[in-house]
Formats: sequence, structure tokens, C-alpha cells
Amino acid sequence: MSSLPPVSPKVGFVSLGCPKALVDSEQILTQLRAEGYETAKSYDGADLVIVNTCGFIDAAVQESLDAIGEALHENGKVIVTGCLGKKKDSAGDDMILKIHPKVLAVTGPHALAEVMDAVHLHLPKPHEPFIDLVPAHGIKLTPRHYAYLKISEGCNHRCSFCIIPSMRGDLVSRPIADVMLEAENLFKAGVKELLVISQDTSAYGVDIKFRMGFWNGRPVRTHMTELVAALGELAKQYGAWVRLHYVYPYPHVDDVIGLMNGGHVLPYLDVPLQHSHPDVLKRMKRPASGEKNIERIRAWRALCPDITIRSTFIAGFPGETEEEFQHLLDFLQEAQIDRLGCFAYSPVDGATANQLANPVPDEVREERRGRVMELQETISRARLQAKIGKTLRVLIDAVDRNGGTGRSAADAPEIDGVVYVKPPYEPERKLKVGEFVDVTVTAADAHDLWAKVE
Ligand code: SF4
Repeated sequence: MSSLPPVSPKVGFVSLGCPKALVDSEQILTQLRAEGYETAKSYDGADLVIVNTCGFIDAAVQESLDAIGEALHENGKVIVTGCLGKKKDSAGDDMILKIHPKVLAVTGPHALAEVMDAVHLHLPKPHEPFIDLVPAHGIKLTPRHYAYLKISEGCNHRCSFCIIPSMRGDLVSRPIADVMLEAENLFKAGVKELLVISQDTSAYGVDIKFRMGFWNGRPVRTHMTELVAALGELAKQYGAWVRLHYVYPYPHVDDVIGLMNGGHVLPYLDVPLQHSHPDVLKRMKRPASGEKNIERIRAWRALCPDITIRSTFIAGFPGETEEEFQHLLDFLQEAQIDRLGCFAYSPVDGATANQLANPVPDEVREERRGRVMELQETISRARLQAKIGKTLRVLIDAVDRNGGTGRSAADAPEIDGVVYVKPPYEPERKLKVGEFVDVTVTAADAHDLWAKVE
């Protein structure tokens, strides 16, 4: 007698927030699939919906609350996870349950086990899990050819404008063998670019006193430099790239720069500096604020002339005087940072910076942000113009009738510019997503490049 195959329960998923939240989403989706759940493409088709939230700035909080409201309205069975799950309102009550009391369960970020417990309670596991359906690299939300690799969770710093440590806790580094295994699985699955993320990549291993681990039968310390060296070797075997994000300018970063000349660890450093003036940095309680950043940047460029430096800054932090702001503009002029984001200071609920004296009026914060971006536009345009005529290796992200769009070593996905690539004049030669091509740069504006295949 034949029996019908069991129907798998379906879970809808809404993923909001930063790359760290994205990695949490991927882990939950991977676990769901491992246990035999299916993912639903619409609210209608789902038996339950999980919303992974962001609680960083007010706009993100609102977006998350709206997404929860929509999921409740369209589906009715909703579990909430992510940073907003930790947030309390002014009366100390759980913010989400106060606004959306019908939510089935709420967890904080990085809470795979709790989320799965809630799923099991409200949508029991299918009887026969199709464990074999899970690819070794798990489920990725990014395109197949690049992926984020989270090496730690939480943060030991207490920057006065940030509430991440209160939401995600102190630094917890992942064992180096686990990180390397995940990297290898991703490369085996066809990933061509691995983006290393954490709250503070330079601090990797501090919490476990740089414990010795093993990879490929060899001892490797849980330390940023050793991790990057091992990832670089692995990337070389697979002809792939490794890109580093959220690096603080501690002295050992100089050793990492030395590893960038080989081509697989990209000569790209995402260093969130936030300001240049020592008094502002002190008020911000920034890590590595005592470092002489201009000298560091000069040293990095001497060690690796092709390095691209990306950074973010805050304009109009409480107490910022015109003189302190001018210090920032002078710093930027001198540092010639390649890729820059600047935010007007925005008070985040629960951040200690809100108590600082002399808040800068809204319009001044915005005006200062505008001045930074104007200066940066000039710097960026000149730096990109200097690339015209040069040869670059580009990873193709998308193809269309006119050619393709890709990124060079200088461009991280989503946050930097792109390279528009004209294919070679051979009708049968089409560009492919995930392919590396060498191109010659033919034009540039302040953000992007145009190039033709060599
Ligand atoms: S380093 Fe500062 S800004 Fe970054 S997560 Fe830690 S406390 Fe927040």
C-alpha cells in the first residue's frame, strides 16, 4: 500500500538589519531546513512567520515594528527574533509585546536554540526530517558567489552612542576550527568572496585568551592575524577572495596588511573611525582612540600601496564644536579615505551619549554631514579618476544585455561603488555571474567605474 509523502510545515521569514543579523537568519533557515521545515514565499503559504528585527536606530526600530504588524495581519502566527527583541520601553516592559501582544514568542539576537524551541512549540517538527537536503554550507541569503562569515558575536567596548553590547552582550569568539570549516564549506559550495564580519574583527580571540585550535592538523591560534593568514591560504586554493570588515586600528593590524599583497586577502580595510578629534573620540569612548590614525593610514599605504580604506564617521556628536568638526575635515583631506560613509548623529534610546552636555542642533548635524559628504565626493572622484587606464580584476555580480556589473577589490557589496563592465567584442563570449574578469578602466565618476574586458 502506498502512502502520500508527509506535507512539510512551511515557515515564512523576514530578515531585517545588518550583515550580522543576516548571518543569524541564515543559521535559523539552515536549522529549519535541517529539521524538514520548508520556507514559504508568501505570508499566505506560511504556517508561521519569523521576523528577524533590527533595533539600532529609530528608523530601523520602526521598520521592524511595521514588519511584525504586517506579518501578524497577513498570517497571524509570528515569532520575533533579533536586536529589537531585547529592547524595553521607558516603563521597562518588553517593547515588542507591548505594541504587538499577539506575537507568539520574542528572543534577542543570536538565539538559534530559543527560536527553534518557539518554532517547535507552535509548529511541531515534521516526523521525518530530510537532513540530507541541507547543503554542507547551510542556506545563504546572499547570492551564491559571495557570503558573510561571522567570526564572533557581541562586543567588549562601550561606545557611548551604541547599544549593541547591551543587546548582544560581551565578545564571544567562535572557535577557529569552526570558522575555518564554515569557510571551506562556503568555498566548496562556489563562494568566490568571503566577507569577514563581527562587531570588532581586530579583537577576535581576546575573550578566550587567543586559545590554540587546530585546522588541517596544524595548531592555529584564535587570533585575527592567524585567522586571516589561514583564510588567505584557503582562498588561494579555491581562487577566491577574502574581505575584512569592522577592523579597529590596533598595532597588530599592520601584520594583517602584510598579508594583503598576495591577492587573496583583499587589500581592503573597513575601519570605522567615527571621528578624528581626540576629545570627541574620548566622549564617544571609542576603542583604539589613542592610536594616531593618520600615521597608521600612512603606514598601511606604505606596506600595501593598493589598499582601499573604507570608514564611517559621525557628524554633530554631542558637544562637537566647530573647531572639532574642522579637525575632522582636515583629517579627511589628509587621510584621503577611499570609501566613506557619514551619518548625522542620531540619539539611540538607551545610549549613554544622550546624557552628554551641549547636544548639537539637528540642522547643524545635517549641515555638517553635508559638508563631509561634499568633501568626500571631491576626494573620491579624484581617486577614482586616477584608476582610468589601469587593469583591475572584477568579480561579476550581475549580467544584462549591455554587459555586466561587478566589483573590484575596492568595492564591498551593497556599501561601495561598482564597476560597469562592457564585454569583449565576441558575440559568443558572455559574462557570467560569479566569474572573475580582468578589465581596463575607461571612465569614472565619484562612486563607480566603467571598464572593458581586456
Ligand atoms: S565597538 Fe563600539 S560601536 Fe562597535 S559594537 Fe562595540 S560598542 Fe558598538
